[in-house]
Amino acid sequence: MAANSAEGIRWNLTDLFSSHDDPGIDQTLSDCRARAEAFSRQFRERLENSARLTPQQLLEGLQELESIDEALSRVDCYSGLLYAADTARPEYQDLEQKVEQRSTEIKNLLLFFELEWLKVEDAVAERLIDDPALKPYSHYLSSLRRFRPHTLTEPEEKLLNEKDNTGRNAFGRLFSEITSSLNFALEKDGNKEDLNLSQILSLLHEPDRKLRQRAMDTLYAGLAQQGQVLTFVYDTLIQDHLTMDRLRHYPNPMVQRHLFNEIDGAAVDTMMQVVESNYGLGRDYFKLKAKLLGLSHLALHDQYAPVGKENRPFPYEQARLVILEALGAFAPIFREIAAEFFAKNWIDAEIRKGKRGGAFCASPSPQLHPYILCNYTDNLRDVMTVAHELGHGLHGCLSRKQSYFNYDTPLTTAETASVFGEMLVFDYLVARQVDSEVQIALLAGKLEDIFATVFRQNVLTRFEAAAFAARKEKRLTPELLGSLWIEANGKYYGDAVEMPESYRWGWSYIPHFIHSRFYCYSYVFGQLLVLALYRMYREQGDSFVPKYLALLEAGGSDSPEALLKPLGVDIHDPGFWQKGFQEIGGLIKKLEGLVAKV
Ligand SMILES: [Zn+2]
Repeated sequence: MAANSAEGIRWNLTDLFSSHDDPGIDQTLSDCRARAEAFSRQFRERLENSARLTPQQLLEGLQELESIDEALSRVDCYSGLLYAADTARPEYQDLEQKVEQRSTEIKNLLLFFELEWLKVEDAVAERLIDDPALKPYSHYLSSLRRFRPHTLTEPEEKLLNEKDNTGRNAFGRLFSEITSSLNFALEKDGNKEDLNLSQILSLLHEPDRKLRQRAMDTLYAGLAQQGQVLTFVYDTLIQDHLTMDRLRHYPNPMVQRHLFNEIDGAAVDTMMQVVESNYGLGRDYFKLKAKLLGLSHLALHDQYAPVGKENRPFPYEQARLVILEALGAFAPIFREIAAEFFAKNWIDAEIRKGKRGGAFCASPSPQLHPYILCNYTDNLRDVMTVAHELGHGLHGCLSRKQSYFNYDTPLTTAETASVFGEMLVFDYLVARQVDSEVQIALLAGKLEDIFATVFRQNVLTRFEAAAFAARKEKRLTPELLGSLWIEANGKYYGDAVEMPESYRWGWSYIPHFIHSRFYCYSYVFGQLLVLALYRMYREQGDSFVPKYLALLEAGGSDSPEALLKPLGVDIHDPGFWQKGFQEIGGLIKKLEGLVAKV
């Protein structure tokens, strides 16, 4: 049956502009350009002579800068959304390209502000940041300066930027080219098929055990063939990273990432230790899963095998009702806001040719409401996707009290509302499900999602750190990387999952290691933070709700640590992170009960 219950569910973008040829688009772009030029003329000099800069002048400057950025975000958002909804229409492609180019030009005119602000002497900057008039911008101004001790002179930075194109960026491109052109020949249903990397990875979720095993063997054999180059690329990038750490005075390889995330490294260390001390929960689940699959022991290729029974098709209208009920039970305001998304057509859910795949929520600015794109195919996963994106949407609506510079959150807390929204809808669905087999599928799916984020990303980060430490001693070889990988994974899988010899190549295709080093712990942080907050909600009941709403309303107006404090959260306290595992333990208990019943 074709899944089409979301047919006709399209967003209405006229709150932004009336159409792709609305003269308002060009008008906004030329206005912004003129304002940016005037701003640059006036403010460059003021910042260069910062000793004489008054708080009032800086305040006016920031307000103008913010207002230009915000006006620009309306155009950026509109062209981006039009294009996402219909990538094949030439006039949308043209608009997207035109806006991208003109908006980059305008942003380049304004770039001097951040650079000059970094150059301002500490004493002068502190005087300005501490001035009461600048209070609304104190977080913005001080967080811009966090990279100051690690920024080189302008000619040095320019030189590095240019040389990076033939240096580390080139190695990144080489990695992408190799992994995207990998070809895996696999026998399936009696035919030989040529598969790419994502196709072969998706076979690990198939019900047929022999097929899963063949897919995994083929995957690692294929990677091993490229092993020498993949090792060389990774080795070079680690060495480049270590060199840059030395030149930029970073005390260890993770510090730069911590600065981006606005997180203290000590809190990350604590979190990772707590995750590691709970690996046993993962093993408990894998033993349970072996039982469900009728196996004495789980092999690595069984990790993602489906269990339980799939739910019936889930029409879009039913998803809408379930989500509104589940969110409303938490807080009436959640229901009210979410209902607006459906009623006012801020969601584009139908499947169409030319529409972008996947799902996202765009929250352009406090002056505008968010928009959601998804591709609804009538299954339960899509219900959770809508709940996830609506969580982002709630966050985007509630934080409209903030000004533009205080609107967005850093990566570590960006998923707070989305994952929380998913948890609310998930619990609602499990509680109302009468078929135990379906409940099993729901719980197993949820646990595996959580493990892929919390445990696996922690393993990945530990491996990364071990590879960096090893590189300080000597060049990395396939043997060495393979051993470090097996060691990091062995701590997690232990005696519960059997790893094949070929799994030594498991590290070699992971793009984060290449393109965004030490990024993976941010996923752990985001997911575990929400599980712990969710636990607090269940412990505290309704008294938790206003505190949580205040957190969302605060947007990105302060660091995650400061914003979480009023909830009684101390991210340096292992006890806080452990709460997340109490929640996970509860899910496993529930699953054990169901397995005993069937
Ligand atoms: Zn998200």
